[in-house]
Amino acid sequence: MRNLVWFRRDLRLHDNTALFNACKDAEDGVVAVYYLTPQQWSSHDDASLKVNFWLENLTLLSKALEKINIPLLIETCHQFSDVPEAMIALAKKHQCNDIFFNREYEFNEQRRDESVLRAAESPKIGVHRFHDRVIVPPHEIKTKEDKFYSVFTPYRKQWDKIAAECATVLPEPTKQKSINISPDDIPKRVQGFHLEGLPNALWPAGEVEAHRRLETFLEKINGYGNARDIPAVDGTSQLSPYLAAGVISPRQCLVPAIEANGGCVGGDCGAATWISELTWRDFYTHVMVGFPRVCKTQPFKQQTEKLKWRRSEQDFEAWKAGRTGYPIVDAGMRQLNATGWMHNRLRMVTAMFLTKNLLIDWRLGERYFMEKLVDGDLAANNGGWQWSASTGTDAVPYFRIFSPFSQSKRFDPDAIFIKNLCPELADVPAKAIHDLAKLPIALRNAGSDYPGYIVDYKSSRARALSAFKAL
Ligand SMILES: Cc1cc2nc3c(=O)[nH]c(=O)nc-3n(C[C@H](O)[C@H](O)[C@H](O)COP(=O)(O)OP(=O)(O)OC[C@H]3O[C@@H](n4cnc5c(N)ncnc54)[C@H](O)[C@@H]3O)c2cc1C
Repeated sequence: MRNLVWFRRDLRLHDNTALFNACKDAEDGVVAVYYLTPQQWSSHDDASLKVNFWLENLTLLSKALEKINIPLLIETCHQFSDVPEAMIALAKKHQCNDIFFNREYEFNEQRRDESVLRAAESPKIGVHRFHDRVIVPPHEIKTKEDKFYSVFTPYRKQWDKIAAECATVLPEPTKQKSINISPDDIPKRVQGFHLEGLPNALWPAGEVEAHRRLETFLEKINGYGNARDIPAVDGTSQLSPYLAAGVISPRQCLVPAIEANGGCVGGDCGAATWISELTWRDFYTHVMVGFPRVCKTQPFKQQTEKLKWRRSEQDFEAWKAGRTGYPIVDAGMRQLNATGWMHNRLRMVTAMFLTKNLLIDWRLGERYFMEKLVDGDLAANNGGWQWSASTGTDAVPYFRIFSPFSQSKRFDPDAIFIKNLCPELADVPAKAIHDLAKLPIALRNAGSDYPGYIVDYKSSRARALSAFKAL
């Protein structure tokens, strides 16, 4: 009996449920495969930075697998629809009786996996699927009416009751019998995803790096509750690219967090707050599974489909480039463009600014983030965008509109982060940066070439409120 493991966004050796199970009962060795699907990735707006991050992780994964005698094969199928036939052919070629993989929950991914299941029927190849991507599998938490939750707080209450049971990590996968199949070389590039000028060095690949980040973060986890909202402070884990690519499992994060939280998941100290962020990650996957329309560019709140979004190429370009004249918004967008990552507080501020003050469709912003983010993940990105645009699961109605000035005053009081990303503001006093009335005068006095506001704050806020009210 030889097993085939199919890697997707679970690029790690340790605590990988499909890999562990494939290794457990294989008598005649294990073969692994990864499918490059460049056309599909393009249609999903996957960022070049992220695709290159995947390739670098695959290189390290291949070496780690080789040590336990598992060759990693690399195949190219342009679209997901080409995968089932290729996979069955591969299984037959290497005499594999069973295929093992961890579930992915996006609509297209689920459809692809169902096709693999059907294709495996007639050659009688066994298919074994595992829940591995989130801590609590999406279907395990339901309302009393057996429905998926659409609000975070009651979901969290249920999640808290069962998450601790899921907080275990698997033993190492067992070393396999050596087989006469060589691993493939991992390509350095995939056509259409070129890295020119992008900062891959900021995101070193590999499980060792992911665990180094986790350990560093655990030393300061107690201060997370306050530090997580201050972009000038390195107060969060920056593990999102590693979680999104599956280089570290959420269970590997949860176990030490529970330990730091005195053995429980709830509470309000730093570790509990961080666990809550892991819960948000589970929640948005739960929402995506329960309401698959969010995978098809439809709003979670269906009545908001009628909202009259503005079309302004000029405003959208200014937002993308970080040239709106609103310092905290521009600093956030410039961080995204320069690093492929943005601080959570700024993701909310920039998304709300685009969808409320500029009244531009959230789908455009969601797509731009996806094209840039090294941690781009459909469930979290869509969830974050729809929450910010008030088309999603936010329990607060549409009138939640962050003021960029009070946000920067509160979360970047000395404008350290803003000045770092917007050097044109270096000589402008922080007080003026946080003050709608004082900024233009301070800019003139400082001789700064920072752009003037592209939109008036008060009237743009009123415009958003009336557009939502009209629904
Ligand atoms: C508009 C918008 C778009 C977003 N797009 C993405 C995305 O594409 N990919 C992504 O991983 N996160 C996304 N987020 C969530 C969040 O901003 C990032 O997960 C977080 O900033 C990553 O930094 P960190 O690893 O230091 O997080 P930490 O604060 O250390 O949190 C630990 C982990 O919890 C998860 N997490 C934290 N906050 C959230 C959240 N609000 N929703 C879901 N998961 C969360 C992440 O996996 C994160 O790595 C988005 C949020 C918004 C508002």
